[in-house]
Amino acid sequence: MKNRVIGIMGAMPEEIEGVVALLSNCVETTMGQRTYFSGQINGIEAVVVFSRWGKVAAATTVTTLIQQFNISELLFTGVAGAISPELKIGDIVLGKRLIQHDMDARPLMAQYEIPLLSKTYLESDETHLAIASKAINAVIENRSLHAVIGEQELLEFNISQPNLFIGDIASGDQFFSKNEQKENLKAQLPNVLCVEMEGAAVAQVCYEYKIPFSIIRTISDAADDSAHIDFPSFIKKISSKYAAEIIKNIFKIL
Ligand code: SAH
Repeated sequence: MKNRVIGIMGAMPEEIEGVVALLSNCVETTMGQRTYFSGQINGIEAVVVFSRWGKVAAATTVTTLIQQFNISELLFTGVAGAISPELKIGDIVLGKRLIQHDMDARPLMAQYEIPLLSKTYLESDETHLAIASKAINAVIENRSLHAVIGEQELLEFNISQPNLFIGDIASGDQFFSKNEQKENLKAQLPNVLCVEMEGAAVAQVCYEYKIPFSIIRTISDAADDSAHIDFPSFIKKISSKYAAEIIKNIFKIL
């Protein structure tokens, strides 16, 4: 059996900082404009890296984790825009199925189908979904976010008690900041909970290499005309804290 090495990708440099701080015996390796931080969390080998943004960047980063660092599992954290009206800023989405909303090779194949894989959705396996959802629920139930994020900051973003949603995540090389983009996606793929720019690309590479993956996203915006508001402030004050807490909890039950 392959040695257990957990790859951890974060879509925000601020998130990575908090996760790197969890590593003991940290060693840095720079390759292809990315810095990989290797060490242990709770005695388990881990490699942490900023994914960079978009499908190509994220796919390249995860491929390096697989080929150069021999990871056996992959955890991805980042922020996303809400598509389902049920989601509020600060809620957490765990991807059960990932789809590339900008994949369209019609008429050669159906819309959204990934060429040569005969697949439209990439699925996270039951075991890793269960581990991630248990860890996220523990973070929510123990109110550990309230311990690391000030009440004032939570109020600023109207966050009281975050909820966990498990379902479809759509990824593509577009930042959703217009009502029209959101409405189009909702009409085309009504089950999608949230939209981002990396998850389904990472899921595709993991599927091809048979690496189990968990894609975890904190809702930062409503993926509409209001999407640009307070983005940097949200990352700094909220989502970077979420990432470290969630990762810490996952390593407790791995
Ligand atoms: N930090 C930059 C923007 C980052 S790019 C800034 O300050 O302007 C956007 C990142 O957030 C990507 O990782 C993407 O996956 C995610 N994301 C958050 N909201 C999104 C939205 N509405 N549409 C697409 N991606 C979104």
